Amino acid sequence: MNIVVIGGGIIGTSCAAFLAERGATVTVVDADKPRFGTSIGNAGHVVVSHSIPFAAPGMVKSGLRSLLTQDGAFALSNRPGQGTLDWLMGFARRCTEANVATFHPGLEAVLKRSAELLLSDGALDINTRGLWQVFTGAGASERAEREAGHMRTHGVSVRDIDEAELRAEPGLTDNVNAAIELTDDLGLDPALLWMRMRQRGEDAGARWVTGVVTDVRSSPTVRTADGDVTLDADAVILAAGAWSPAVARSLDVDLPIRAAKGYSVTLPRTDTAPTRPMLLMDQRTAVNPLSDGLRLSARYEITTPDDRDIVQHRIPALIDRARIALDLPTAPESVQPWTGVRPASIDGAPYIGRLPQRGAQPVFVATGHGMIGTAMAAGTADLMTRLVYAEQISDAEARLGPQRLFA
Ligand SMILES: Cc1cc2nc3c(=O)[nH]c(=O)nc-3n(C[C@H](O)[C@H](O)[C@H](O)COP(=O)(O)OP(=O)(O)OC[C@H]3O[C@@H](n4cnc5c(N)ncnc54)[C@H](O)[C@@H]3O)c2cc1C
Repeated sequence: MNIVVIGGGIIGTSCAAFLAERGATVTVVDADKPRFGTSIGNAGHVVVSHSIPFAAPGMVKSGLRSLLTQDGAFALSNRPGQGTLDWLMGFARRCTEANVATFHPGLEAVLKRSAELLLSDGALDINTRGLWQVFTGAGASERAEREAGHMRTHGVSVRDIDEAELRAEPGLTDNVNAAIELTDDLGLDPALLWMRMRQRGEDAGARWVTGVVTDVRSSPTVRTADGDVTLDADAVILAAGAWSPAVARSLDVDLPIRAAKGYSVTLPRTDTAPTRPMLLMDQRTAVNPLSDGLRLSARYEITTPDDRDIVQHRIPALIDRARIALDLPTAPESVQPWTGVRPASIDGAPYIGRLPQRGAQPVFVATGHGMIGTAMAAGTADLMTRLVYAEQISDAEARLGPQRLFA
């Protein structure tokens, strides 16, 4: 089977690897240098715990509160793109228990499968010490307890951290008063994961083409530096992240996905860095100790997909916020700020499945993974392989399909 994958981020690359290993002839088309994309500089948390869709009760209130805060976690850029108000209102309407009930089982299944697949790939360096959610200031213990209870009701494996263990973890300041451990969560370097998936794809015969896919109604048409090329395809997989709606438009499909920009910075390694991935809950900052330094990342700013602007004061603000909970070097020099755009779906769950046939060949989508694309990539590729080969999928997995857009 000839398969064209549009987009070589972690989702497209993982799908390519799994399908090529299954025996398909796979071509990945990517517009740019995907290794500099969203899938590379992110926090690298494999959050099996994040099986509650992003559109959930409480999100509207916390989003509005954040909008009113300088440097809040959620923001609107000054060029949010056309249709953003409708998207935001649609998102707000979906922040319900019913939305959680619809998508939680599928997200849980794909996330758990992802972690299993990553752990069984002996070539990956994975931090298996669990992810700590860290709380600072007054009322930290109560908030930690509440969060643990909330997680446990959704089947997440949580371990309480006592005072002795908290103080034994390097790199935390005295402002940290409580933590809980999400025991099944993992940490990794997302760039190394992407390289590993690309290597697996290439080893299995997948090839990469540089160009922009402009149309998928007939054979996929790719604009390359040498002119337009059409590719043979028995099936197409659309995995173009935040740019997916632009490609879907050639099929008259309206994919309700917005770009949600975030920042990261990787500080030089010190002897006192934390030993495990963390979420600083009160600073809304993700932390990951990588082999080349300590990565901090934050912010969820609705914008246009091509917005790569790094607002300069955001990086010192990000480091200063993290410093409340972490012992960081006083004035880290020569840090390279990074920004990327998450593909954020209107109901907080990805679209993984087949679109209604509108063109010459079947088109599948694997996009809209928002905050959890790295975590879901291997499980998404596994599910996509079963979909393409018309094998069994569960009801919970089927609910992640794009048919919900056409109901
Ligand atoms: C600050 C930050 C922190 C994050 N932390 C985490 C985390 O800890 N854990 C986690 O799981 N996730 C995290 N994420 C989310 C994660 O990075 C994304 O969900 C994931 O990278 C999305 O992958 P993707 O392959 O769908 O998209 P992308 O990586 O954006 O890839 C899409 C690709 O499609 C290509 N493309 C676009 N249009 C076309 C076209 N017309 N033709 C050909 N190619 C095209 C682009 O060049 C791009 O390479 C974070 C994101 C950010 C911004």
